[in-house]
Amino acid sequence: MNTVTVVGASLAGLYAARELRAQGFDGRLVLVGAEPHLPYDRPPLSKAFLTDTDRAASTPTVTDSAGASATGTGASPDREHSPATRTSPTTGTAPGTGIHAPYESAPESQLALTDPELALTDPEEITDLAAEWLLGVHATGLDQHGRAVLLDDGRTVVTDGVVIATGASARRLPGPQPAGVHTLRTLADARALRADLTRGPRRVVVIGGGFIGAETASSCVALGHDVTVVEAAPLPLIPQLGPDMAMFCADLHRQGGARLLTGTGVAGLHRMAPAYPSGDAYSSGDAAQPGGTDPSGATDRPGATALGSSRTRSSRTESRGPANPGHVTAVELSDGRILPADVVVVGIGATPNTGWLSGTSLAVGDGVLCDAGCVASLPQVVAVGDVARVGGVRAEHWTSATEQPRVAVRNLLAAQTVETVTALPYFWSDQYGSRIQFAGHRPADATVRITEGSPDDGGFLALYEHAGRVAAALAVNCPRPFMRTRRELRAQRTATV
Ligand code: FAD
Repeated sequence: MNTVTVVGASLAGLYAARELRAQGFDGRLVLVGAEPHLPYDRPPLSKAFLTDTDRAASTPTVTDSAGASATGTGASPDREHSPATRTSPTTGTAPGTGIHAPYESAPESQLALTDPELALTDPEEITDLAAEWLLGVHATGLDQHGRAVLLDDGRTVVTDGVVIATGASARRLPGPQPAGVHTLRTLADARALRADLTRGPRRVVVIGGGFIGAETASSCVALGHDVTVVEAAPLPLIPQLGPDMAMFCADLHRQGGARLLTGTGVAGLHRMAPAYPSGDAYSSGDAAQPGGTDPSGATDRPGATALGSSRTRSSRTESRGPANPGHVTAVELSDGRILPADVVVVGIGATPNTGWLSGTSLAVGDGVLCDAGCVASLPQVVAVGDVARVGGVRAEHWTSATEQPRVAVRNLLAAQTVETVTALPYFWSDQYGSRIQFAGHRPADATVRITEGSPDDGGFLALYEHAGRVAAALAVNCPRPFMRTRRELRAQRTATV
């Protein structure tokens, strides 16, 4: 193999590049990344990055340091114990020896990986990897045989192997997004949200009680905002944790100081039209004037313009188009209640970034379909991280994105599946001062048994048992027993695979 192209220059893409060099690939290595940044860590974006208001006030600058202590930043706990050790590439045929335009020509503010605790790599490693970094560039297609990656700047990378690591994008509400409405996936998203949160006390509505919604709610409470979380299911996190532990997480919101409304969806957003609309912007001036709040913070005064709502959407809004959708003023729930809001965070999941593959022969369906060794339907294409559906499962966890690349690269270089991913699923989440850790596969009908501590004390270990054995474990502020159980689950898995 002379050339390998990694599409997606973030966590899984970086780990794939490391693995390629570590496993002896000394050819041309190209990384294509849609974001203008070198790889950075996303977990802190919903945690310490949001609450660090001091930094919010300072202007981003380029830094050359990386790997600052992860302690207390919400950074990924395994990061400094990365399984992929940094190795110097073998020199030889690799013509790619640097960072290519537009990286070179991008303004400093764009490159700003500024926040040392987010950086996943450093200049020394960049040199060692001897890769061509095409940053700020989208891949727009893959030829039928997986031998050429098309780019949005008109270039084509002719390649022998492809690693797809394009991750996922935050789902949005339908319709235009007024100012004050945020999703949280990228550094740019986090900076925009943080800027909104530093403008004094705000009424924040978080739509979606999943991990990102819960963490963001927790960060907003820590910043002193008035926070309401809206979750359509009867409890948040049921699919991930099951009903018993989901109940505990619901209590975390309440005890932490956020309002939690469950069992109701969102009908639409109300917005204040801009005072001086320009061009063909909205000019209806039909802001919600909520009042008469009930204890949940909701009002029952529908009638203002709602975006994304079939029931209350203004015909004028539809006909004029979203040139300037104004500023959000409230969230209208599907039961008719209205939550006044200055800031809305939409945390309703993520969609795998496979759009650029449409029209190719590659099998795609909620992710790139791969065998258990991360090999896609073309043998010289592998997929890793959030975009990869590996052996029928698509995980959106930091640890999966760092563990899959070793196996994927091995199979790519072998031109067949010689190894499958056997790693035990693991994720963590930080909410309201509690660290939640989960490992294993949770059968839907598992029984939950608490073996250490107690939910009432805020720290416990719960085991999910099924067919006479432990299938998964969840810990809240109980790291040591959790680590022990995780090791046992790993050993059990290795023995059975
Ligand atoms: P991504 O990190 O999404 O990177 C994919 C990259 O590919 C992006 O830079 C994207 O711009 C780029 N790309 C997309 N399309 C193209 C294209 N066509 N051409 C070129 N480039 C493209 N996990 C945990 O286990 N615990 C946590 O506490 C946790 N917290 C999180 C908090 C937040 C706010 C977020 C967003 C995620 C969190 N995660 C957490 C999940 C974890 O960060 C992801 O699993 C991980 O980032 C996946 O890495 P990835 O490289 O597969 O995808």
